[in-house]
Amino acid sequence: MAAVTADRNLAGRKPGLERAVILLGPPGAGKGTQAQRIAQRYRLPHLSTGDMLRDHIQRDTDRGRRAKPLMERGELVPDEIVLSMVEERISQPDCDNGFVFDGFPRTLAQAEDLEQICRRHNFDYTIVLHMVVDPDLLMRRLTGRRICRAGGHIYNIFDRPAKVDGICDLDGSELIHRPDDTEPVIRGRLSAYETQTRPLVDYYKGQGLLIEVDAMADADAVTASIGKTLDKAEARQ
Ligand code: ADP
Repeated sequence: MAAVTADRNLAGRKPGLERAVILLGPPGAGKGTQAQRIAQRYRLPHLSTGDMLRDHIQRDTDRGRRAKPLMERGELVPDEIVLSMVEERISQPDCDNGFVFDGFPRTLAQAEDLEQICRRHNFDYTIVLHMVVDPDLLMRRLTGRRICRAGGHIYNIFDRPAKVDGICDLDGSELIHRPDDTEPVIRGRLSAYETQTRPLVDYYKGQGLLIEVDAMADADAVTASIGKTLDKAEARQ
């Protein structure tokens, strides 16, 4: 039975996934790739806090200046910066029918605050997809990752290379190697995940919101399995 509030119906909002979809998993689990695909399939915005922060750095904003040295070391950015960015973003009208988070929440404080934010914005449902992957694979995925400058399309020089080296197959733009995709910084990011983000697995499991996804499979198989899960969730609304 749908638990969409009367207010949402009265506001004439189109039914969509009507929920916050959270992709939870270590750096290199494939959150960005899968979030892009989910967003496209359900026509929802893909909200990557990493991309938002990189945008602030590029525009040299106050938030960007605070975030930059932390991101260069692979450490997390303070909750208050991330939470204010997220709340601003989901207040935009394109988030009315749901959104896909990639890289958020990453701490218990962020998860608790997200609950309040969802309540304020009348989102009754959350689904958490836990992308489970063997740690040995992560270093290879991250050091090999290349990202298209224009559209954020993701490649891997070892497993999913572009047809022409350094050029995006889809839009011809340059492929970049993120400065934090180098071994020493990746080690910092993996350790931040273990200490600060992994506790969210139990937190969401305890709330009955966690669905495990085998993220070792190739990207298309992972997309297919996530698609089935989300279709079921949509049908239950
Ligand atoms: P990945 O998931 O591969 O580490 P992201 O682009 O999501 O890549 O994150 C890059 C960096 O941005 C992180 O190492 C961290 O410094 C910062 N960051 C992104 N999202 C958050 C968040 N929710 N909380 C704190 N820091 C964040």
